[in-house]
Amino acid sequence: MKELVIVGAGPAGLSAAIYGMRAGIDLVVIEKLAPGGQVMTTYEVENYPGFVDPIPGWELMSNMENQARRLGAEIRGVELSSIRRGSGGCFEIETVGGDAIRARAVICATGASLLKLGVPGEAEFTGRGVSYCATCDAAFFKERVTAVVGGGDTALEEALYLTRFASKVLLVHRRDAFRGAKLLQKRVMENPIIEPVYNSVVRSINGSGKVESISLEDTKTAAMKDLTVDGVFIFIGYRPNTEYVPGEILNEYGEVMVDSRMRTSIPGLFAAGDLRSDSIRQIVAAAADGATAALSAYDYLESLARS
Ligand code: NAP
Repeated sequence: MKELVIVGAGPAGLSAAIYGMRAGIDLVVIEKLAPGGQVMTTYEVENYPGFVDPIPGWELMSNMENQARRLGAEIRGVELSSIRRGSGGCFEIETVGGDAIRARAVICATGASLLKLGVPGEAEFTGRGVSYCATCDAAFFKERVTAVVGGGDTALEEALYLTRFASKVLLVHRRDAFRGAKLLQKRVMENPIIEPVYNSVVRSINGSGKVESISLEDTKTAAMKDLTVDGVFIFIGYRPNTEYVPGEILNEYGEVMVDSRMRTSIPGLFAAGDLRSDSIRQIVAAAADGATAALSAYDYLESLARS
């Protein structure tokens, strides 16, 4: 029996582990992939306080993991399959192919996953021109023409990163104004390699064996056109990873509903980071959520001990 299980080892889960260990909680972190979460695929982070210069995403997360481990946190590489309330108010955490874990409290910190466009050719050419990670795949597109789909921070940042390799980056957005931060918009506009393609949605990704073109529909005129590209990078947002969370605490977007102390309406169950309602989806906010959730879990465990 553990006092606390933290599900997920991204910024929220690792921060919860750091605060939990310092509060003397007997905890374990479970993570189905390597620790680090989405930030591992971010080329550079320049808005996490405490680093004067941009820090590579993998390095920031490796620091967080090492910090949690130095404090004694155990990070177990197992995948959660379900959480249910067991006897005596404890949680039963079932894992895929592993032992079940019993815990008095649980922090859900499983973040969010990238959305897919869902157009013909996307699945077929994934890994053969279609990518969801510029940091991972940009080097394959040296002196090639690429398209980036999306208008948020991620699309703008990844388009800028691609300009280090590609000869041209077509930034395809469904509206006539980007959603991403003004500073990123300015950098995009000033970069001669990036060519914005506004009011356009991708209808198909085409090729034979690998990506050769995309078919775009003009959202104003419904006119179709094909653009020749060698690669397509898709950054159109995220969906919360909450499949295992009881439906009664999810909102209409599938996010976990929490109060300002990261408590759900189920006593002992907390949520932190990108999977929670009203998250601003920033690394620093996820880390802050993790700290809050760990301290709330501490209060909860103390209240159990007193009762
Ligand atoms: P996002 O902010 O949700 O933006 C998604 C973009 O994709 C929007 O421009 C949206 O268009 C477009 N889009 C959505 N569905 C689409 C579809 N089916 N077809 C075509 N376009 C579609 O997602 P994000 O950029 O991944 O960012 C997620 C969160 O992480 C944000 O809160 C962001 O601030 C944060 N983030 C922060 C940083 C940083 O601070 N360094 C870096 C990356 C991300 P519309 O604009 O028309 O809705």
